[in-house]
Amino acid sequence: MRWDEVPTPVEALFPSQDAKERLDDYLTRTLAAADSRVKQGPVMPDLDMAKFRQELVQYDFEAPQPMQALMDWTVAQLEHGTVHMTNGRYFGLFNPAPTFPAQLADRISGCFNPQLASSGSSPVPVALEAHVIGAWARRAGLPPESAGHFTTSGSEANYTALICALTRAEPRFATEGTRAFSGPVAMYTSRECQPAWHKIAHQAGVGRQAVRLVATDGSGRLDANALAGALLEDRRRGVVPVLISPTAGTTGAGMVDPLLACSDIAREHSAWFHVDAAWGGAALCSDRLRAELAGIERADSITIDAHKWLATTMGCGMFITRYPKVLSDAFHVGADFMPSTASSLDPYLNTVQWSRRFLGLRLFLSLAAAGWGGYAAHVERSVAVAAQIQSGLDDLGWQTVNDSRLAVLCVLPPEGSRPVRQIVQRLLAAGRAWAAVAQFEGRDVVRICVTHGETSAEDAATLIAGLEAAR
Ligand SMILES: *Cc1c(COP(=O)(O)O)cnc(C)c1O
Repeated sequence: MRWDEVPTPVEALFPSQDAKERLDDYLTRTLAAADSRVKQGPVMPDLDMAKFRQELVQYDFEAPQPMQALMDWTVAQLEHGTVHMTNGRYFGLFNPAPTFPAQLADRISGCFNPQLASSGSSPVPVALEAHVIGAWARRAGLPPESAGHFTTSGSEANYTALICALTRAEPRFATEGTRAFSGPVAMYTSRECQPAWHKIAHQAGVGRQAVRLVATDGSGRLDANALAGALLEDRRRGVVPVLISPTAGTTGAGMVDPLLACSDIAREHSAWFHVDAAWGGAALCSDRLRAELAGIERADSITIDAHKWLATTMGCGMFITRYPKVLSDAFHVGADFMPSTASSLDPYLNTVQWSRRFLGLRLFLSLAAAGWGGYAAHVERSVAVAAQIQSGLDDLGWQTVNDSRLAVLCVLPPEGSRPVRQIVQRLLAAGRAWAAVAQFEGRDVVRICVTHGETSAEDAATLIAGLEAAR
């Protein structure tokens, strides 16, 4: 085929400028309308899934279909086919209503589609992400040489921490794997940890048995004495402790493990000290709440998920370390085809990923638009709403069993109520508010987390009334 016989681009994939603007404007209006309906409507999905599946099989991808109708269909399915984190009555897991700047960032990075593997192809995006990471490292009190990168998730960041710990503990781990160690390796966190650690140990090749779930002290926090004891016992048996990872903001109850004591123990045993602050790290924005995370400044590395309390769109974690050299020891590789500036800071030479999306723009735009003060107000507001819910439930005879100073409540109904699991089931069946069942110190509790930046007093009252009606 001659060059001038090559067919014109497929209009559906690459529309004219005019058509793009029309579709864009249409989508903007459609989404705004759907978003405001979602805020008023039920939190739970109310889609007929059988009908949805019938419609779905009709998409056999044989005949092209018009984009506008496809967008209408997609938005309608999402409006009725998910639990709505963007509804102020979602008091759920750490899933936020996303900030608008983060949504705009997704549009911008989608348009330019920069490849963040290398600073050679994406000098500005790579420098911008490094700038944001540096700002968080300083905020956490880490030294100036600290660095890191954005990850798709807290799990990827925690995985990175374990790889760094292994790489620093035994240089031959790079070539020989865990065989290089003098004995089996172990990592330590509490039994209240986020369970992805088990998958991480599996992936990293140390085996799930390497995860030591240290007891808690009755308040949901890791028991530092139990940690010290577990390390001594393991060392005596020839086990090599590589990583100690307390949680700052546990998934179940929003508790902060004793970071200073864990740091002392990690130092004593030359283990890597990682703070999993996936959710709780957001408290660093607030001068009032920062003290809750005292000791985080001693971390060898930190995980913070921007897609949790910092409310960016999904899949935006951060890994921050005071030893960036260990990242390049762990993730370096030779690749002649890469457009490198020979900068050792290239993300593909320092991280798990290769091709990489411009995730950091979400937090850059959110933080630049609101400032630390705006984020402090956001975080402090969640804590105030949680306190309001606590006192409302307290008046009705409910009991809060955790004493998190962050925005998670674990509550029990008054004597004579139904079991917690039934209460939550009935709450969700009614559909007006969402809360979870969790385990706190061995018993079922109703877990309430304030995740939405605009939850109103009325939303809080709806939750309380819903729980009362369900109990
Ligand atoms: C959410 C969470 C994780 C896992 O992060 P993902 O982004 O969901 O992969 C790990 N640790 C804690 C404390 C978390 O809250």
